[in-house]
Amino acid sequence: MHIIARRTAIGFGSPLLLSSVRTSKPTDCRGLPIMAERSPHSEVFNKPKIELHVHLDGAIRVQTILDVAKRRGISLPANTAEELKEKIIVHEPVTLTKFLEKFKEYMHVIAGDREAIKRIAYEFVEDKAKEGVIYVEVRYSPHFLANCDVGKNIPWNQTEGDLTPDEVVRLVNEGLSEGERAFKIKARSILCCMRHMPNWSIEVVELCKTYRDAGVVAIDLAGDESMNLEENSNHKVAYEEAVRCGIHRTVHAGEVGPASMVKEAVEELKAERIGHGYNTLQDKDLYRKLLEQNMHFEMCPISSKLTGACSSDFTQHPIITFRKDKANYSLNTDDPLIFNSNLPLDYSIVHQHMGFTEEEFKRLNINSAKSSFLPEKEKEELLHQLYEAYGMMRSTAL
Ligand SMILES: [Zn+2]
Repeated sequence: MHIIARRTAIGFGSPLLLSSVRTSKPTDCRGLPIMAERSPHSEVFNKPKIELHVHLDGAIRVQTILDVAKRRGISLPANTAEELKEKIIVHEPVTLTKFLEKFKEYMHVIAGDREAIKRIAYEFVEDKAKEGVIYVEVRYSPHFLANCDVGKNIPWNQTEGDLTPDEVVRLVNEGLSEGERAFKIKARSILCCMRHMPNWSIEVVELCKTYRDAGVVAIDLAGDESMNLEENSNHKVAYEEAVRCGIHRTVHAGEVGPASMVKEAVEELKAERIGHGYNTLQDKDLYRKLLEQNMHFEMCPISSKLTGACSSDFTQHPIITFRKDKANYSLNTDDPLIFNSNLPLDYSIVHQHMGFTEEEFKRLNINSAKSSFLPEKEKEELLHQLYEAYGMMRSTAL
């Protein structure tokens, strides 16, 4: 998901806390298991993992926001990390307006600040390494972190400065590279177009081309799924250019939007992966076709509940159908800052409420590595790492 995205068609007033989740395990106020969050030893899958769908601007440390605000002299409505966390995190399914307000709490602190942007990228890699992730693709809109060359309305009510989307990409690349060296994992990035800002999309694909050898592996389209392509053909032009230049493509679709958005993403934008895609299940023919094509779905369990994209009863979650059908999908956090989550917590949820086993965790991570946007040789190396860690002979690959 991303800002401006989601929840145009969400049923409000639904049961808020996870009253429908059948568990006797201790849970916090979100109904999420406490143990998995507090103790790394209780992880349900304490082996190397791959993450393919996580937003850099939704994965910032609260303390970093406080530090940067202090350095820049920006006042915040909170003085401590705990207070700020309470302002930012989502406890229960929220409206689009409320979700947007969460980003407005802190994005003005980070955007437009070179040191902060590099720092959040570096710290992101450290956090992922701690979660047992060995390869991550992190996505962001370069324009959302810039303060010039972004059109008339500068994001987050910033005053105009001199930080361009191009320099934002260079800063993130530097932060990720330094993080890779320090924490010994691999991190690549995906640049996001935003559905409501079609004028940015051509520049986004150009940035993908410019920095394809510096860590940028793909283009994404995020945002409000009620905005279709006919109205905003710049997205299509950008994706056509991506196809022409061999830039990999993923699209947020079928999260809160209907199955037709998934179809559009695959047929019109030539998406190689689908962000979320839960509502694909509404169109049986499309679902069957995508299963046959081995389409990869980037699933985000905790996110899907707290954004209201899916029922808050995890035992009724679409992922259960995808698993039963041996679909190709990954498990991801999406916006861990906003959801107060981490990847082990998402694994814990599907283990507790959907019956995921170690074998399924291995299978989905191997599929994630195969569906990553790494060049073939690096993909082979990554797969080899997983086979070794999982104690699997190559010939018995799932
Ligand atoms: Zn997302």
